[in-house]
Amino acid sequence: NAHSHPAAALGLSKQRISFAALRTCEELQQAGFAAYIVGGGVRDLLLGREPKDFDVATDAAPEEVLHVFRRARLIGRRFRIVHVMFGRETIEVTTFRAAQTNGQTDAHGRMLNDNEFGTRDEDALRRDFTVNALYYDPIAETLIDPLGGVQDLNARLLRMIGDPATRYREDPVRMLRTVRFAAKLDFQVDPPTLKPIRRMAPLLENVPPARIFDEIMKLLESGHGLACIQRLRHEGLHHGILPLLDTIFETDEGFVTQALTRTDERVQQGKSVSPSFLFAALLWPQVRVRWEAARTRGEHVVPALDLAITSVLDEQGVKLSLQRRYQADMREIWMMQPRLEKRGRQAFTLITQLRFRAGYDFLLLRAGAGELDGTMADWWTAFTTGNHDERERLVKESL
Ligand code: ATP
Ligand code: MG
Repeated sequence: NAHSHPAAALGLSKQRISFAALRTCEELQQAGFAAYIVGGGVRDLLLGREPKDFDVATDAAPEEVLHVFRRARLIGRRFRIVHVMFGRETIEVTTFRAAQTNGQTDAHGRMLNDNEFGTRDEDALRRDFTVNALYYDPIAETLIDPLGGVQDLNARLLRMIGDPATRYREDPVRMLRTVRFAAKLDFQVDPPTLKPIRRMAPLLENVPPARIFDEIMKLLESGHGLACIQRLRHEGLHHGILPLLDTIFETDEGFVTQALTRTDERVQQGKSVSPSFLFAALLWPQVRVRWEAARTRGEHVVPALDLAITSVLDEQGVKLSLQRRYQADMREIWMMQPRLEKRGRQAFTLITQLRFRAGYDFLLLRAGAGELDGTMADWWTAFTTGNHDERERLVKESL
């Protein structure tokens, strides 16, 4: 095969992929099917980065994949995907997709079904970027590169497969992916891939909010959230997706920048970030403005905050497709703030609260942004780390 490279020459080896990914490929191949590791896992390995996870592509139909594995289940969503479980690890297995022939689209050209099965090389053409269309066979130790992904990867170039405008029309979310990968991988975007975005951005309004939410989460959790958000704005992509970004950056750019910077640091240290904490931070400037307004109208501190939160969540919850449970967590984090601002005996009960850690982290964020005086955060840090006597002393001092 003209597109096949010996994997070892590119620094790939089966030692570098997970046990589960290797076993998935082995078992599929033993059952007579083709199976490759694809997508971000291969790309990141070739770049010398730690892959987030491994996906597998195969010519076995989903039902056939289910047959091969003891612990596997079909999951819905846009495509039929099989999740194969090995211990704590899950491998996403997708069947090669056919070239689009008479697929159904909506009035704007967005693809609605993409479920025809095809060959590996047809599958490659259905993927988004050349660097995402690399197929690693860990048993044969070869890398199949049908579309020149290796060359682009070496040139650090993000290039859409096929005609970019057509591909964005089929799936507008790809515009967000262009921004995310450019920021995360620190790649140049091939000019023809970049150019249509500004003009086509409004197509994102036709995408179901839940898909936008998923993609925005990936963006914020990429370890380069700030860079992504700045690029989104730069490409004119925030309108209609994160309309609140405009408002936020106008009201309090410093706070959001601080929140995103700290999130990026956490991700880069391998720590997790919770969607509730992130959105609590992104929406906080709005909550604050309304909180102050309610207080000016004569409401007391806590009821004023409660009103502000309700109005912000009513407005943004639907727009951002924030799940109820996230909204509930955000409310808790926010409602804890006035209680944290009072240092006193109630600290002993506050600290036992389930969401205390998130509330305290949020307080640190506010202090870091210069919203609170620094001694407040220091007091809580001393309180959380201190033993009982130390805590008693801190409470006495504060009274
Ligand atoms: P990450 O490291 O963020 O997981 P990834 O490249 O693995 O990056 P996924 O969203 O996990 O991204 O998707 C896996 C693969 O599926 C991609 O590499 C790409 O080949 C293909 N893919 C995903 N989303 C799309 C899309 N919207 N259009 C075309 N191909 C896509
Ligand atoms: Mg992936």
